[in-house]
Amino acid sequence: MTVNLLDFDAAGLAAWFAQRGEKPFRARQVLRWMHRFGVDDFERMTDVAKSLRAKLAAEAEIRGPAPLRDATAGDGTRKWLLDVGGGNAVETVFIPEANRGTLCVSSQVGCALECSFCSTGKQGFNRNLTTAEIIGQLWHANRMLGAVRQPGVGDSGERVVSNVVLMGMGEPLANFDNVVAALRLMLDDNAYGLSRRRVTVSTAGLVPAMDRLRAEVPVALAVSLHAPTDALRDELVPINRKYPLRELMAACRRYLEDAPRDFITFEYVLLAGVNDGDADARALLALTRDIPCKFNLIPFNPFPGSDYRKPGADRVRRFQEILMNADVVATVRKTRGDDIDAACGQLAGQVRDRSRRQAAQPLVRHEPVAALEESAP
Ligand code: SAH
Repeated sequence: MTVNLLDFDAAGLAAWFAQRGEKPFRARQVLRWMHRFGVDDFERMTDVAKSLRAKLAAEAEIRGPAPLRDATAGDGTRKWLLDVGGGNAVETVFIPEANRGTLCVSSQVGCALECSFCSTGKQGFNRNLTTAEIIGQLWHANRMLGAVRQPGVGDSGERVVSNVVLMGMGEPLANFDNVVAALRLMLDDNAYGLSRRRVTVSTAGLVPAMDRLRAEVPVALAVSLHAPTDALRDELVPINRKYPLRELMAACRRYLEDAPRDFITFEYVLLAGVNDGDADARALLALTRDIPCKFNLIPFNPFPGSDYRKPGADRVRRFQEILMNADVVATVRKTRGDDIDAACGQLAGQVRDRSRRQAAQPLVRHEPVAALEESAP
């Protein structure tokens, strides 16, 4: 079977080369060609011996995800729908800002966590993405954005993607090994060379995996909090029944010991009449009193079939004010790309649900993707 070299982090690629009697520096060369230069053709790796190029071409491939759709929103946000086979597709979003470019990366086809307000969760779950499919989103974005350096033209080319957030479809910590390998590539100087501060994993709160992440690749951490009490969080983020707030807060404190930033980001979706009251804001302050943190408030983004509502601007401002008055930084996440359904919680891709959730819960769906429908069994 042909091996996809995008599936390996640096250590994995070196091991694969070693098994073939090839030196570690050869693996590094190939890693650079793939990730820094976005090359997928061994013949273009001009400093790799011709015989090795032929050997690689016979045994391996560099296969990025196949784009099915490429949409750009009025505000410049760009969303790719990427085919991952079997009638499934995931979404990747690029968000350009004045001083940075953030890529929002998916980690699973669908999601098994069933948060009540999330479009991805409503779609059910199919499978984990492979390392190649996760890092392939960054690889693809750099190529599409024209950001990969031209080999031989010096080393000064700026990457357009300066930050990566694992905030797309899926729960990254439920796909731990593949996500960790992809994170290592993001940080590797021979690959993407991003600093740990510029790579953020967002989790709904898988406590044991938060500790493992801290030990293995402590990148910046965002935690989807969404409720100040267990009673409400059990309902909104059902994984809370397994890892309740007390345990989650303790895991956040532990994470900070190794985190690249001296705070945890708490994401908090504002749902009108559900978790957006003054008392909720005060309860949040009490809950997080001894954790250095920032809040990122996300007014609910509606999607077809959702029954929550977004609070009015005054309510959002008041909620933010209560946090700020207690000297806790609270930003309101700007809605980006909502005209192409690229905002938080709107990513849907195309998921062939295997958890049977869709049958139980019929939903108005995004329009089917023609290419996928054709290839469906
Ligand atoms: N599973 C991870 C990664 C998803 S990140 C996590 O839960 O953190 C996506 C963020 O958008 C999460 O904070 C998620 O709770 C939030 N979100 C989901 N649906 C949303 C919606 N409809 N409106 C606003 N934010 C939403």
